[in-house]
Parts: sequence; C-alpha cells; structure tokens
Amino acid sequence: MTNRSEALFEEANQYLVGGVNSAVRAFRAVGGTPVFMRRGQGAWIEDVDGRQYVDYVLSYGPLAIGHAHPAVVDAIAQTAANGTSFGAPTELETELARKVQAIMPGMERLRMVNSGTEACMSAVRLARGYTGRDRVLKFRGNYHGHVDALLVEAGSGVLTLGIPGSPGVPAAVTETTLTAPYNDIDSVRQLVAEYGDSLAAILVEPVSGNMNCVPALPEFLQGLRDVCDDTGALLVFDEVMSGFRASLGGAQAWYGIHPDLTCLGKVIGGGLPTAALGGRAEIMDWLAPTGPVYQAGTLSGNPLAMASGLTTLTELARPGVHAEAEAWTARLLEGLRDRAARAGVALRTHQAGTMFGLFFTDRDSVVGFEDVAACDGDRFVRFFHGMLEAGVYLAPSAFEAGFVSTAHDEAALRHTLDAAEQVFSDL
Ligand code: PMP
Repeated sequence: MTNRSEALFEEANQYLVGGVNSAVRAFRAVGGTPVFMRRGQGAWIEDVDGRQYVDYVLSYGPLAIGHAHPAVVDAIAQTAANGTSFGAPTELETELARKVQAIMPGMERLRMVNSGTEACMSAVRLARGYTGRDRVLKFRGNYHGHVDALLVEAGSGVLTLGIPGSPGVPAAVTETTLTAPYNDIDSVRQLVAEYGDSLAAILVEPVSGNMNCVPALPEFLQGLRDVCDDTGALLVFDEVMSGFRASLGGAQAWYGIHPDLTCLGKVIGGGLPTAALGGRAEIMDWLAPTGPVYQAGTLSGNPLAMASGLTTLTELARPGVHAEAEAWTARLLEGLRDRAARAGVALRTHQAGTMFGLFFTDRDSVVGFEDVAACDGDRFVRFFHGMLEAGVYLAPSAFEAGFVSTAHDEAALRHTLDAAEQVFSDL
C-alpha cells in the first residue's frame, strides 16, 4: 500500500513549522504521521492514497451537515462569483446574525469575528471594559483559543503537548487570570469570596470539548450564574464547540441557563472561517463603534463565510434534522459500549447532542480534568491507530471531543461499529 502522506509530511516540514498549521494536527500525542486528506463528502473523507474514513473530527466541529454539502458549496460559489470581500457592510451579515438570534435568542446583538480565539479575546476585553474590573476566572482543562490571558491550564493541544501555559505569555498578562477545577462550585465560591470585587467575568465551556467531552453539571452552571449575579461579574459561555451541537440552541438551551455573553465559532461558519461574540445588547453596545471598547477586523463578516454559515444553519435548523443526528449519536455510543463490554474493555461514553466523548476508564463518573487525565492513555493510542487503519477517523488526542454530522447514516454506523468490534477485541 502506498503512503503518500509520509512523503507529503516530509515535504511540508521543509516549509511549515512541524509540517502543520495548527499544533493539534501533528499526531504528536499518538505517534505516526498525520494523514493528508484530499476530499470529503458527507460523513466520509478520503486521504491522498484513496483510503476512505468515516469522519468524527469534521474539521474539529464545524461541519455539522457533513463535508461538501451541495447547498453549502452552491452558496459559496454563487457568493464568490460576486466578489469575495468588500470591507463594507453586506446583507449576508445581517441574515446570518438574524438566523443565529432565531436559534439562540440570548444573542441580542452580535459581532462577527474570524476565529473562536478572537471571539474569546474580545469577550474578555468587553467584560473588562464593561465592568471596569480586571480579573477573569477560567477552568482547568477548558480551552478558549490561544488568547494570552486564557492560556493557563488550558485544554486541547496545550494538554496534548503537555505545555502548562506557554512561553511568550508574560506573567503580568496572566496575573489577573484565576483558575478553578471544572465542575467544582465550592472552589469558585472560595475564589469569589476573596476576589469577587475585582472579577470581570467567568468564562466556561458549558460542555467542555477540550478535555475529551465533559458536560458541566447543571448545579455547577447554575452556581456560576448565581455567583455572577451576586458579584456583578459577567458569565461568558464559550460555545465555540457546543453551539448548535449540545442542542440546536447550544448548551444554553440544553441547560436552560443563560449567560451574559456567548462565544460562537466552528458550526456558525459551516467550515469557513467565521466566529461571533454576542449577548445582551446593553453589554454588546459597549463595543466600538457604539461604545468605547475597541474591536475590528479586515475580513470579519466575510461574505463567503456568511453564506456558508447561513446555509449550514438553515439546513441544520429544519424540523427534526438536528434531533435525528442526536439520535444517531446515541446509537453510535450504545453500539460502542455494547462492543466494548463484549470485548471486556472498560469504556465510558458521554453525549451532548452531536458531541461525544470516549473514556477508557472504570471510574463511574468523569467530571473534572483529573478524571480525564487518569484514563488509560496507551489504550486510547492503540484504539486510535486501530480505528484509523480500519477506516474511522478520530481526533489524534484523548483530550478532544468527537463530532457527528447530519450526513452520518446507516452505512457509516455499520462501518464504525464493525471496525470497533475488531479493534476492541485486539486491545
Ligand atoms: N473555544 C473553544 C471551546 C474551542 O474548542 C476552540 C477551538 N477548538 C476555541 C475556543 C478556539 O477557536 P479557534 O481555533 O477557531 O480560534
């Protein structure tokens, strides 16, 4: 069998740092060479040697209706034919914002940006500007992009690469960042007792997708809401992953707990680079040009990204469509648990709508970063490579969530479960 990926990776390393443009893609945590992809259609992707995989990475979440959905491809092509960027307002920006608001009514006012990182960075600045306070609180194992102030005990690539924070982030910048264990409201209350008066915001992934997939306990999120109401700090939900996934209306609809500000990314662009910050109009209007908190972007609200996002959300919001993908996800996890049990493999699963997590552990609950870190890492690596070999593409790290799209069908399910049956028995 040929392996063009190896040759391409060697070539890429001559030009790109580590051969990749995002650290998490490098397969550092699992070993081996990253697989180069050349095509995607629906639930399937094809590598440069023509091997096919059922895809549970979906570009780390954005492709909620699968690869190359014809309506999305059409919308992008038609929009591109009229020009790709203007640096002036376009109607598509309003249309996407209106669509997002219809799905998430808490997004009273939005600002489109280009990445989840930008959304979180701007959320912190806005919260600080609005409250006139400096401190922010985040949780161990939660990732909010590579924002200096938030690159403390962050999840995802930072965990995978074993870098606690990062060189290049001045201590002065993280001095005002507090961290607490996820799902531990008592720790939050203790910090707030000491620092509440200077607290601008609490940032949280209401369903964390950067320490595998760990949904917040409802009483934890409610506790955060109460603490914010008591202290005047803003509650910021980072729904870059959970938005349009934990439920159509995101984690805020799933839990019925409402933040002051929400960060969106991934699905909102349907595979093109856009993200958004949104929330209560009274707060959002503190952003320039209505308010004094500066924020801007040359390509923000880019027409191609607006068209892709709008079409993706329109398809996803059709009656029953998201629910069907959630039901498919439940069947996937049931099938995996069943096959793991038959092979005598201890496996725990989490589901939050169309996000999921697989844990090789015999703990009966996984609620914090320590529980995730205690899972059997060697077993994950063997599972990952076995599944890859069998044509199932999972994220190359035990700290990433899995994703399902509306294009995942019976054939994809059968292929995945047959592969898992074999791989579990080899573990
Ligand atoms: N927040 C969360 C919850 C994320 O999962 C991510 C990316 N995985 C980000 C923020 C950063 O988004 P981006 O990679 O688009 O900058």
